[in-house]
Amino acid sequence: MPAAPQRPFNFAPGPATLPDSVLRQAAEEMLDWHGSGMGVMEMSHRGKEFVSILEQAVSTLRELLAVPPHFHILFMQGGGLGENAIVPMNLAGPQAGGLIDVVVTGSWSKKSLVEAQRYGDARAAASNEVDGRTSIPAAATWQLRDGAAYVHVCSNETIDGLEMATLPDLAALGCQSPLVADCSSHILSRQIDWSRVGVVFAGAQKNIGPAGLTLVFVREDLLGRALPICPSAFDYSVVAAHGSMYNTPPTYSIYIAGLVFEWVKAQGGVAEMDRRAAEKSALLYNYLDDCGGFYRNRVAKDARSRMNVPFFLTNETLNDAFLAGAREAGLLQLKGHKSVGGMRASLYNAMPLAGVQALVDYMKDFARRHG
Ligand SMILES: *Cc1c(COP(=O)(O)O)cnc(C)c1O
Repeated sequence: MPAAPQRPFNFAPGPATLPDSVLRQAAEEMLDWHGSGMGVMEMSHRGKEFVSILEQAVSTLRELLAVPPHFHILFMQGGGLGENAIVPMNLAGPQAGGLIDVVVTGSWSKKSLVEAQRYGDARAAASNEVDGRTSIPAAATWQLRDGAAYVHVCSNETIDGLEMATLPDLAALGCQSPLVADCSSHILSRQIDWSRVGVVFAGAQKNIGPAGLTLVFVREDLLGRALPICPSAFDYSVVAAHGSMYNTPPTYSIYIAGLVFEWVKAQGGVAEMDRRAAEKSALLYNYLDDCGGFYRNRVAKDARSRMNVPFFLTNETLNDAFLAGAREAGLLQLKGHKSVGGMRASLYNAMPLAGVQALVDYMKDFARRHG
């Protein structure tokens, strides 16, 4: 077989680029998975073939993130925004008192706050809106209420480009409430400190695979607290009791996620993804800081995301020319989110260092031609 031509580098924020080898394997197995005579999309979710795909995906994921046995791994549907409702319905039941504290660090946690207000007494424990969403308020300043059902953080703000390097230690702040972390856009790029968290959720379409699959990690003692209105298919206890098979799971998305987990493992695991994320993001941020003002990133250095790098051309009339030239250079989907403007380069696990180097080379060339 001739070598496949190199594809353009895709900087989309999600759905996002996937490893070439995963897509090729999926293509090869499309019509016949492992001699079964069926494609994965055509299999019964209860048959031995799909059950083996699911079990393998869960066990590889558990290994990659060193998930302790007292956490359930659930494969759900509904995306990150679905979890904004599913989390309060599961954790803010009557016995939990209904207080929900949300640390607002950007667009996604703001959405989580607004949605949680439909299910409980949800308030912002802190907000970075005052500084234009450029820094993460220090944990010591968060206004946490005694007995809150949970505290919500978004540990990587995909739109604004802010990331928590570590999850907050609520116990050290004197807070006994469980922490809920929306890790949608940086899961598998760094380890998770399971001692600090009660629930982690992540939509798959950023760092894992196709949209439609949502990963939920829930600590055993948090099951059984759901509000009576919580749909059974979204009740963590029900989903856990059925091993993510209460209803038909998103089978094809789980299969692709499983291939991505194997790919991460073969590359050297989460530790290697972490190392690469540091390397790739430093390459781009160093250029942004040293370019002499043609481009800029507004986020405080200690809050900068390694996954999503928003940047602006000082002369915004050049935006369209920048994007058109980027497309010609094989650099796709760099336009910033409409609420922020400018550009955004997402550097997920499947983005190679060569892609970031190509982007920086293009940016240098563009700045030289238009500076
Ligand atoms: C993409 C994203 C979401 C939303 O996911 P949907 O699948 O569109 O509901 C939520 N939170 C974060 C941090 C995200 O990056």
